[in-house]
Amino acid sequence: MPESNFIDYVKIYCRSGKGGKGSPHMHRAKYQPKGGPDGGNGGRGGHVILRGNRNYWTLLHLRYDRHIHAEHGGNGGKEKRTGRQGADAYIEVPCGTVVYNAETGQYICDVTEHGQEVILLRGGRGGLGNVNFATATNQAPRYAQPGEPMQEMTVILELKLLADVGLVGFPNAGKSTLVSALSSAKPKIGNYPFTTLEPSLGIVPYRDGRSFVIADIPGIIEGASEGKGLGLRFLRHIERNSLLLFMVPGDTDDIKREYEILLNELTTFNPELLDKGRVLAITKCDLLDDELIEMLKDTLPEGLPIVWISAVSGFGLQELKDVLWQVMNSESNKIAAIQQTETIVHHDKDFSHLRAEMEDEGEDDDFEWADEVEDVDDVEDYEDFDYIEEDDENA
Ligand code: GDP
Ligand code: MG
Repeated sequence: MPESNFIDYVKIYCRSGKGGKGSPHMHRAKYQPKGGPDGGNGGRGGHVILRGNRNYWTLLHLRYDRHIHAEHGGNGGKEKRTGRQGADAYIEVPCGTVVYNAETGQYICDVTEHGQEVILLRGGRGGLGNVNFATATNQAPRYAQPGEPMQEMTVILELKLLADVGLVGFPNAGKSTLVSALSSAKPKIGNYPFTTLEPSLGIVPYRDGRSFVIADIPGIIEGASEGKGLGLRFLRHIERNSLLLFMVPGDTDDIKREYEILLNELTTFNPELLDKGRVLAITKCDLLDDELIEMLKDTLPEGLPIVWISAVSGFGLQELKDVLWQVMNSESNKIAAIQQTETIVHHDKDFSHLRAEMEDEGEDDDFEWADEVEDVDDVEDYEDFDYIEEDDENA
């Protein structure tokens, strides 16, 4: 079994930056013996921000960077100098990443769009310098506000593969061969920890620099609807796929019957899959002569686009891409996709089994669960004052 090339979940410890302390500085000048408060505000600590990035197709890049720390805010200084804002820490994730609190299993958010940013942990706000506390009765306050503490959380990121086309076919239908023939890029990487199954995912270049993603997901048909093995793990990837490409070899005895068996398997798993756009590819046409193809045309299933292809000779592949693109972008398919998105409900999850699994594998030695991380600094009284509400854009 080849090493798998797909990483669909990763666990990360994140920590935002503390807010900088406000300064209690007193101004001193030659002819001003008393001076006055001139302590500036602390800068805010960095946020931890998730950002959708369409250039990533897996979470692999995060497997080796599992501690994300944003910078602390700088302390305020004399002459009303404001402390530096701590740099935000960005976690670049593929579109389709779902985020959970690793300890509680609670669903946090979903990053679906390129460029979408979600603040996972807010940096602490900076404390106010003593200039803010000068009043008529207390003109020289010698205190300032501490910065707010940092926040920390251990999260699990899960990738819900947002393939546009999911391949459905029995073993040997030619699915893997088609993915190789159509795709320019196959994310290649890593070591998928929980299974030996290997979903394969290809980016198909289309006209004018556009592209779409096809996914050959193992285990969909091979007993997966009965809940066998790990097939179900991958089935969730196809639930969002916007259309299904059924694949039946041209030399099959009864193409229509085989298509119906596939359809039936899927229905058993999840009847909603039938709401998706469907296309049928009859594969391995290089094995058939024209006469046979003409004869077979009378025996095919009805009600869906059918394309004759050969991944080996390249026959029909451009037509297949055109048909897939058309169905993918058809109004009815878009409506189905919207309806489907609306029905996606995120459930909190129990990740305790993963915790055990990872500990068993001993691959996670450097990882600390948040409850084992030492307490953040105890900051006294920071709640006693109102912090300035910053405008995030220019804070
Ligand atoms: P999968 O199990 O659906 O992924 O099928 P594979 O892509 O592994 O293909 C199964 C077998 O069919 C392999 O021996 C392929 O070489 C062969 N095959 C796939 N596509 C074609 C094709 O277009 N023409 C011919 N003649 N053989 C093909
Ligand atoms: Mg295969």
